[in-house]
Amino acid sequence: NSPIITMPYYSLEISWCLWTFLGLLSLPGVFLSQDKLNKLLLVSFDGFRWDYLDRVSTPNFDSLIKSGVQVERVYNAYITKTYPDHYTLVTGLHAESHGIVANEMYDPDINRTFSMDRMDIYDSIWWDEAIPIWVSNQEGGHRSGAAMWPGSDVKIHGKYPTHYMLYNESTHFEVRVQQLISWFMSTEPINFGLLYWEEPDESGHRLGPENPEMNDVISQIDSNLGYLLDQLKKSGLYDELNLVVTSDHGMSQMSLDRVIELDNYVDRDLYTWIDKSPVVGILPKEGRFEEVYTALEKAHPNMTVYKRESIPERYYYKYNSRIQPILAEAKEGWTIMRNKSDTFMLGNHGYDNMLPSMHPIFIAHGPAFRKNYSKKSMQSVDLYPLMCQILGISPAPNNGSLSHVQDLLAESSPLGPVQQLEDSHSSLLGAILGFALVVGFLIIFVKQVTQKQIPVVPITNIEIVQPLLQD
Ligand SMILES: [Zn+2]
Repeated sequence: NSPIITMPYYSLEISWCLWTFLGLLSLPGVFLSQDKLNKLLLVSFDGFRWDYLDRVSTPNFDSLIKSGVQVERVYNAYITKTYPDHYTLVTGLHAESHGIVANEMYDPDINRTFSMDRMDIYDSIWWDEAIPIWVSNQEGGHRSGAAMWPGSDVKIHGKYPTHYMLYNESTHFEVRVQQLISWFMSTEPINFGLLYWEEPDESGHRLGPENPEMNDVISQIDSNLGYLLDQLKKSGLYDELNLVVTSDHGMSQMSLDRVIELDNYVDRDLYTWIDKSPVVGILPKEGRFEEVYTALEKAHPNMTVYKRESIPERYYYKYNSRIQPILAEAKEGWTIMRNKSDTFMLGNHGYDNMLPSMHPIFIAHGPAFRKNYSKKSMQSVDLYPLMCQILGISPAPNNGSLSHVQDLLAESSPLGPVQQLEDSHSSLLGAILGFALVVGFLIIFVKQVTQKQIPVVPITNIEIVQPLLQD
């Protein structure tokens, strides 16, 4: 008899499992629908120094500040260069921890080079020391879209952003914006977007930040922002989207009167010149370390030369083999060259991250943020946990702290913005509903089982079961 009796149990168990499974499936559906997620767009205007806003009329920036938040002083990551600082923004890590320590790198462990100039940056190994926020967002079940953010077209931890544009600097600003908006508006929308624009960095290098021609460049960026805001309004995204407009670093004025020529102090055959001015990574040839270091140590009053192990702790720029054994750092406004035939630029950055000229802008706007609120300062590593909070994802280990920037959010409670509160209410409701569903089916299941067990195999049951067996 027993094989006949097990059959209804089996089908009951299957149906119980099925209902439980369906019940559990409905759980996330209650509180994880994609359009209910907080939307976030992170924008970087490369090299936008914090005080550029005071030089010309910037109506679009002004309107965003008035209805959002502004941070006056952002302490960015050392060295204050494009790749390290952009990776800090999306990982919350200092350069020594995220591994993108410069725009030009050499890693002795793998004997490979990384160069922004040659764009040989696509090997995952350079980026895999950290997890960028778009990867975590996708692991949290969401979708990300990146318009040319540095590193966003590289496979990192086995993943690209859900959508991304291959880096091509000739792609117009408007095209990048349109692409992002279409991703946000798609039937399978992204909840997180990243937008990168090369200006005003390019002009800053070429003209020098003190050049009055920079005023037109800043006005142009304000128009770019205006275009973005218009398009967000037209697509209905403006009121529901959280927008962070920031940058990687500032810019300082150079002069040919402030040049340090290394050839005057040390034979260039004794070392390899890895990263360029104003913070030069120097790799001495085998056995020539002391010779090179001693020659450079007190060579010039406007150049500080560090052995890697004596780099100041506050730089968080020591514990990574991609940081070269000797680091030569110029004083603000000074350029380090081998001799004057090397490339010279009128504007540059990379200096000490305590220098005001190296600091970027920071403005945020949207439902998650307070309105007309100004904050004195923040660390750029704190943006990452703030973004994770808005996106509702768990941050990877990082050097930042949400508590440092919690006051930027619309409600300064441990739960953060209003949306987060609503989300947590709905997730509680979802949990209760799901639990009730599971308990309900459990009761039905137990009832069914006990009904089957009480009668000692009634004939009716066998009769019901037998046709099934024969089918
Ligand atoms: Zn630059």
